[in-house]
Amino acid sequence: MGFERFGTVSFTTETKAADFINYLEKGQVSATRCKKCGRVYFPPRVQCADDLTTEVEWTSLSESGTLLTFTQVNYGPSGFENDTPYTLAVVEFDEGIRVFGRLDKTIPSGDIKVGMKLRAERLNLAEGKISYQFVKA
Ligand SMILES: [Zn+2]
Repeated sequence: MGFERFGTVSFTTETKAADFINYLEKGQVSATRCKKCGRVYFPPRVQCADDLTTEVEWTSLSESGTLLTFTQVNYGPSGFENDTPYTLAVVEFDEGIRVFGRLDKTIPSGDIKVGMKLRAERLNLAEGKISYQFVKA
């Protein structure tokens, strides 16, 4: 339980990676790292896809990532209609992972440039829900 608080539309209440929401409540956007091979996962996974070990540890995303690509959403899917327009982005972090998420709505659209530095932070949503977003680093 607890994971139902994640996101505008919650698709699951149960996950082995539910600690993600506990870290997010503390303001930390977290990934998992395999203790055996070092591979980092976001969304967090509790089992490494490479060596199948469940020996993973939680880690924060690095403080700065690079915007790889983005798109503005003007017609949102079910549950997101009232949030439009918003910008979806893919950010590459130093850990070598690419993270998909929303861009801070306060960033003017003309300021959004591929290659800009961003970091992930907690985003408070309606009804006590939480998520993460990318803000300028
Ligand atoms: Zn591994």
